[in-house]
Amino acid sequence: MEPIVALATPWGVGALHVIRISGDASKNTVEAFLDKPLQKPRHASLRYFSSEKVEDQVVAIWYSEPHSYTGEEMVEIMCHGNPAIAELIIETLLDAGMKPAQPGEFTFRAFLNGKMDLTQAEAVNDLILARSTELLKAGENTLKGKLSDRIASLRNKVLNVLAFLQAAMDFPEDVEESSIEEQLREILVETEDLIESAKTAEILRKGISLVIAGRPNVGKSSLMNALVGMERSIVSQIPGTTRDYIEQYTVLGKIPVNVVDTAGLRHTDDPIEQEGVKLALRRIEEADLVIFLYDASTGWTDEDKQMFNLIQEEKTIVVGNKIDKGKGNEQHPKAYFVSAKEKTGIDRIIEAIHQLMNITEPPKLLVSQRQMGLLEKTLGDVHDALEHLSVYAEVAADDLFSALRNLTTLIDGDVEEDLLSTVFSNFCIGK
Ligand code: GDP
Ligand code: ZN
Repeated sequence: MEPIVALATPWGVGALHVIRISGDASKNTVEAFLDKPLQKPRHASLRYFSSEKVEDQVVAIWYSEPHSYTGEEMVEIMCHGNPAIAELIIETLLDAGMKPAQPGEFTFRAFLNGKMDLTQAEAVNDLILARSTELLKAGENTLKGKLSDRIASLRNKVLNVLAFLQAAMDFPEDVEESSIEEQLREILVETEDLIESAKTAEILRKGISLVIAGRPNVGKSSLMNALVGMERSIVSQIPGTTRDYIEQYTVLGKIPVNVVDTAGLRHTDDPIEQEGVKLALRRIEEADLVIFLYDASTGWTDEDKQMFNLIQEEKTIVVGNKIDKGKGNEQHPKAYFVSAKEKTGIDRIIEAIHQLMNITEPPKLLVSQRQMGLLEKTLGDVHDALEHLSVYAEVAADDLFSALRNLTTLIDGDVEEDLLSTVFSNFCIGK
């Protein structure tokens, strides 16, 4: 294919920059600007790159087709880590007729040349963007082809059921329907398992928003500081200081969390404060998770109850604070107790967050949004097949053919889909 070029390292000043080139005559085009040719593939050569625009001592590696990342002829140039040098080398190559690579185009070519399937190509991006070691592991597994293996095994099972179904239509007395049903249920469970893994990965990848709510002065800002581990919110003794909201990004256990400290919730006649309360309620509504905080040293009061009634219970963790000052008479029955001031009990809240988000074990595989959509369609197909099984065997077979198509698209992509724009467009350039 036509040669493309891009910077593979992040833009900025560093020790080195890597410029990646792939496509027809990559080697010849680059060599026109080197003092000596690149003699051996996969060997690092120290060379002078010089053109009208730039001169730099570089290390260049030539990869012969098909033994490269993309499967095409490739050259990688390591130049000094000044972005201006990298840019001028790239400009030189563009002037020589190369095209600037689009985001993900190198990986797209690797996919086209059969170097990897689509699940692996997508994992490349996840691997680069992974923000935690768990995600990194899951990304590596996916890149090694473990997701494709599981999809391929699912596909085989669907094929197997189709064969059974065919036999059942031809020789009804020889095939037991219950055995087909059993196999379908197995497929169902496996698909659900993959979807579950995808959801976990999604939470670990994107993170969640956590709002701390409660009456003024119960210690919301102090708890936020304890969670984030920094003096960020303004802690004060005058109720209602946090007028709007303050947010801070952190990682709690395995989950990236955007913690939002809101204005205190209470009935008030002050219009500015009313506005703060309104905004706080909106933040609560939008949040993935809410910590409803009260002062355990005075107890669970009527005012707490009133404010708590404004909040969705199922996404809320109730926390009693200031436990270092002792406990008041009445407490919320499900409360976790902490002292934001002395930073005690915080671990248990973090545990509760993992439980509520259903993050019990790290994901073994990464599943992209695209793959997730296809898995959900597959799940629907298998459900339908189960439903139709006893009534219309032909319809059940159709359902399974649809499942088969969805699973195939998952690994190989769709011929009608514009892969470069749908799958690879969120890659960084140079990958
Ligand atoms: P907010 O209005 O809910 O954000 O409450 P702040 O975090 O500003 O805290 C209000 C007051 O309670 C401050 O004087 C804090 O020092 C105090 N406070 C917060 N957490 C605790 C705690 O765990 N124990 C004690 N003894 N005081 C606390
Ligand atoms: Zn506050």
